[in-house]
Amino acid sequence: MNAHLPWIVAKFGGTSVSSVESILQIIEIVKQYRKENRQTLIVVSAFSGVSNVLESIINGPEQVNIDETCTWLEQKHRSMLTQLDLSSPRLEQLLYDKLNFIREAHARLMDEQLASFYATQAAVMGIGEQLSSAFFRDFIERRLSENVSLTDARDWLVSESAEHRSVADRYLNAECDVKLNKTMRQQIEALGAVVITQGFIASNACGETVVLGRGGSDTSAAYFAVMLGAERLDIWTDVPGMFSGNPRQIPEARQLRKLDYKEAQEIASTGAKVLHPRCLRPVRIADIPVFVGSTFSREK
Ligand code: ASP
Ligand code: MG
Repeated sequence: MNAHLPWIVAKFGGTSVSSVESILQIIEIVKQYRKENRQTLIVVSAFSGVSNVLESIINGPEQVNIDETCTWLEQKHRSMLTQLDLSSPRLEQLLYDKLNFIREAHARLMDEQLASFYATQAAVMGIGEQLSSAFFRDFIERRLSENVSLTDARDWLVSESAEHRSVADRYLNAECDVKLNKTMRQQIEALGAVVITQGFIASNACGETVVLGRGGSDTSAAYFAVMLGAERLDIWTDVPGMFSGNPRQIPEARQLRKLDYKEAQEIASTGAKVLHPRCLRPVRIADIPVFVGSTFSREK
């Protein structure tokens, strides 16, 4: 069998997928990967603000005005469809179905005795990435003039059963134990050289949706990088690289040029909020380099 082309796993965060300008940068980044003969798995977050709104629904269903909240979600996604000139009956239907699901889940969450309370919370949290990835696939495919496939992250990432953890954590802060998976790599390769999937979501052994904790898309991307044996994990966000503090809040924070995993882990754990704290461990073990770049000021 032919040696396979190297894989890059590229994660794009919520702010990077939420403005047309930055989305056009993403297209350039993916074109560059293709020029360099890399196969690319794109991992996307929900559009910015969406996960916060979904979290408000699951954390305080009684306090939420579900009509207003769904109108906000609808407008947010419709505005992306319009800005990207993407409207199609299929995406309209998807949006409609997901909004219905949220309404219905909200009604169920009002009952605290609900047996599947945490499962329902996780299912609601996972909607943002399902919408953004579907929208994004259509847009990227149009711009790249190459086939772009969407694959459901829940088909590949299965959470650990983690009996010692609380039920809430198992659904809302799930972890996966991953290793190189050549069968999966072959199956993903069969989908084409550019494949897109959702960050943040996984499934459990029963096939239910679970989520990896807020900011968990980085960790999803790290899991995929390990399973594919990727050449590199690229985390594209709104700040270029790792800093000595949160550059969104501390203007004098220094940019750190090259770090080992341990230093990067320390920074990630002390709240610089560039990387999800659980994202580095799997790539460190598999020895996969991580690049952190900004879709807003691109240099490499
Ligand atoms: N959308 C999820 C969140 O905002 C996951 C992520 O963006 O990494 O927490
Ligand atoms: Mg996010």
